[in-house]
Amino acid sequence: MTRIQYTKPSITDLEVEFATDAARNGWGSACYAYIERFEREFAAFLGVPHAIATSSCTGALHLGLAAAGIGAGDEVIVADTNWIASVAPITYLNATPVFVDVLPDTWCIDPAAVEAAITPRTKAIIAVHLYGNLADLNALKVIADRHDLLLIEDAAEAFGSIYHGQRAGSVADFGIFSFHGTKTLTTGEGGLFVTSRPDLYQKVLTLNAHGRDSSQTKQFWSDVIGYKYKMSNLQAAIGCAQLQRADELIAGKRRVFETYSRLLADLPIRMNPEPEGCVNGYWMPTVVVDEGVAFDRDALLDAFKANQIDGRVFFWPVSMLPMFEDKPENKVSYSLYPRAVNLPTYHDLTEEEMQRVAALIRSAIG
Ligand SMILES: *Cc1c(COP(=O)(O)O)cnc(C)c1O
Repeated sequence: MTRIQYTKPSITDLEVEFATDAARNGWGSACYAYIERFEREFAAFLGVPHAIATSSCTGALHLGLAAAGIGAGDEVIVADTNWIASVAPITYLNATPVFVDVLPDTWCIDPAAVEAAITPRTKAIIAVHLYGNLADLNALKVIADRHDLLLIEDAAEAFGSIYHGQRAGSVADFGIFSFHGTKTLTTGEGGLFVTSRPDLYQKVLTLNAHGRDSSQTKQFWSDVIGYKYKMSNLQAAIGCAQLQRADELIAGKRRVFETYSRLLADLPIRMNPEPEGCVNGYWMPTVVVDEGVAFDRDALLDAFKANQIDGRVFFWPVSMLPMFEDKPENKVSYSLYPRAVNLPTYHDLTEEEMQRVAALIRSAIG
């Protein structure tokens, strides 16, 4: 029996060729060549003017929040159902994350809950496109504009998702991406900040260069305390090759989702939605069992394990973690995680392997 990992990247001769070229030649005057190319090509792919490659998505969010002036006493509204990386940078700046509930169909932030959580201290809303599903950006934009708040898109899981003609990450004040080895497009580790706002672009550039303004002529002169979350040229070389294969990588994710969706069509479950006018990049095919249906998530994960399949739990409400206070009033977030799992997905996952996964899900739903 072959082992089914929950995800792995698709690496071809093209990535190896680009990485080899960077290792041989990408030094001295060429030490930024792949980084600049990756930023230029990624920005063009998204249709935004500015992109800054970083060492992680966490770093990109930290930089963006800092550039927007978020600090002590400020509140940032974010969905309770999330990976900690979308929350931790808020706390790095001594601001407070305010966890709100998600919608039962997209598992993304609920705009009505955002509206209800706004206080005079609120500075920003972080919309995370969970598992490739798109947050309701139109509604969030209306709220952000009305209350003069910054709108941020965490598109780490939404490479390939399109919101009414605009690529995920390109709609809000700024967007962030991750190229961790589990993501649709990978550089091993890595991230990216994108924006259409020249002011935020300049500030993030300065902050990511240890506070040195690009117009500063004095060498080694910092005007402010900054950070250093840079991507290496070697990583960017792999990113350039992956970006050249973007359509193929996204199509691979969509093929896997569509196969599972067909194999599980008759079960009392919900999977990632793709509303009219939108495209879902389907980073993680996810099964949420209907409320009231007998289902033991841990028993399914044990069955996966016994059958050489890597299982993956749906995100816990971040407010459940020991650093925060429980917020069970976020009813949807607290009801989703015990009923849900992510399914393995990678480029060369075969139909037979997906049938093995589907058969176990079928027998776990009673
Ligand atoms: C993976 C991920 C991150 C973190 O990315 P890193 O590159 O590991 O920092 C942030 N947000 C979301 C939604 C993610 O899925």
